[in-house]
Amino acid sequence: MKITEILNGKRAALSFEVFPPKTLTAADGVRAAVDGIMAVRPDFISVTYGAGGTTDDYTVEIAKRIKKGGVTPLAHLSCITSDRAGVKRKLAQLKDEGIENILALRGDLPQDFKGALDYKYAYQLVEEIKKTGGFCVGGACYPEGHPESSTLFADIEALKIKVDAGCDFLTTQMFFDNDVFYSFLSKIQSVGINIPVIAGVMPVTNAASIMRITKLSGTYLPVRFRRIVDRYGDNPLAMKQAGIAYATQQIIDLYANGIRAVHVYSMNKPEVASQIKNNLSEII
Ligand code: FAD
Repeated sequence: MKITEILNGKRAALSFEVFPPKTLTAADGVRAAVDGIMAVRPDFISVTYGAGGTTDDYTVEIAKRIKKGGVTPLAHLSCITSDRAGVKRKLAQLKDEGIENILALRGDLPQDFKGALDYKYAYQLVEEIKKTGGFCVGGACYPEGHPESSTLFADIEALKIKVDAGCDFLTTQMFFDNDVFYSFLSKIQSVGINIPVIAGVMPVTNAASIMRITKLSGTYLPVRFRRIVDRYGDNPLAMKQAGIAYATQQIIDLYANGIRAVHVYSMNKPEVASQIKNNLSEII
């Protein structure tokens, strides 16, 4: 099923994310995690794609597994380290496997980055996928601005180019303050971006990693969230419970405000996916 059909459905949508293994030895653990998240029956599951191309085969393999399990997969695809021939090969492979949905990304710049090959920005990958035809294509967006952009407005102008290149939907970077997201929505609507936007929410289950990630991405941490991390960060079980509760509250507020789809950065943790889904059992 195409993600756009899910987004046009009668009820609000909930999706989860998995990331492929980096090594063969980790593959069994990831497959088990994917199966556990599939058991929660989300509307779709997205599968990330390594920027250096290291995990690209696993992305397709895991997307196939999800499809076989009866859940819609969304395969991520990044382009900054790829040439046109490589991207075309990957698109042919996805098509052969019947994977209909792609999240088109530039990818993070590798440390030894010496310049783009055939694609400098994600919008060029969106154009390539649209030219190929048959795929439902999503793009990433950043309610607080992409870290490389000088201003949020400059990033939104670039986003408009990506949307006009053919995005069918957008998925946001995680945010911890829903007002930041609502304000972003009105800003993008004012420049004529009217495609569906899936809100990205991350249940924080590990205090140290979230501090590192938010420092890198510049994501704003509201005081009420920082108090939770300060108080429970040293107690992994309490942090996990509080992180899931915080994410659940965010999601309920998003749905209550008419947001039609929420994507949960579930980080290969079936128990987190399952608890979130249970917390919303009467809501979606
Ligand atoms: P782009 O849309 O190309 O934007 C990158 C930067 O260039 C921005 O600052 C933008 O403002 C600017 N820009 C874009 N177009 C133009 C233009 N025409 N002119 C001037 N400036 C422009 N990374 C992975 O490696 N694998 C993944 O699976 C993955 N999944 C992700 C999923 C989501 C939902 C999100 C939000 C991010 C994900 N990322 C992933 C990270 C992403 O690859 C990085 O954030 C990357 O730095 C930017 O990717 P992008 O597709 O947003 O790039």
